[in-house]
Amino acid sequence: MPCSKIIATSDQLKQIIADLAHKISSDYCSLENCLALVVLEGAKTFSEDLLAKMNFPIETTTIKAASYEGTRSTGQVKIDAASGLVNKIRNKNILLIDDIYDTGQTLSSIIKWLKNCNPKSIRTCALLEKQTQHAKAVNVDYIGMKIEDDFVVGYGLDYNGIYRNLPYIGVLSEKNQKP
Ligand code: 5GP
Ligand code: MG
Repeated sequence: MPCSKIIATSDQLKQIIADLAHKISSDYCSLENCLALVVLEGAKTFSEDLLAKMNFPIETTTIKAASYEGTRSTGQVKIDAASGLVNKIRNKNILLIDDIYDTGQTLSSIIKWLKNCNPKSIRTCALLEKQTQHAKAVNVDYIGMKIEDDFVVGYGLDYNGIYRNLPYIGVLSEKNQKP
């Protein structure tokens, strides 16, 4: 096993996602023009399971953002938005979905970018929140689970492109990290 500790088993993740989907559905069910904006690559697996459990009409699209190299944040967020995304966002109730709220740089950069696209509203959902000093504080509306400040992999989260396919989330053991 590549992990020294399991943070959330597959069954625990199912329960967390069912609870999140329930809360989000009750907040969004009376709204029109909803758009889920999924932050790739890390939130792909989580968002697919979450969206499948939500019971109101919502359009889905993606945005690419990357700030990590290996197990460290570079502190610089690269946003890569497809052409046409700006027009899609205008006047929509946006649900921004990411995997982890860590330093907050990714979410705050995307939210800043989103605000320039004139959406009707923005709410944010993250599967995990790291209990650490967030360099950029973000008001995340929906959080699945709070975790320690460890580097985690699995369920969509990678280390240099691998381990995304693990069905659980765990702390990557030191021996699996290249110096
Ligand atoms: P932030 O910009 O909040 O520091 O980091 C957010 C992004 O960094 C997340 O969307 C995720 O892609 C990546 N990230 C932060 N912590 C971890 C971690 O422990 N494991 C992995 N695999 N990615 C992380
Ligand atoms: Mg990410």
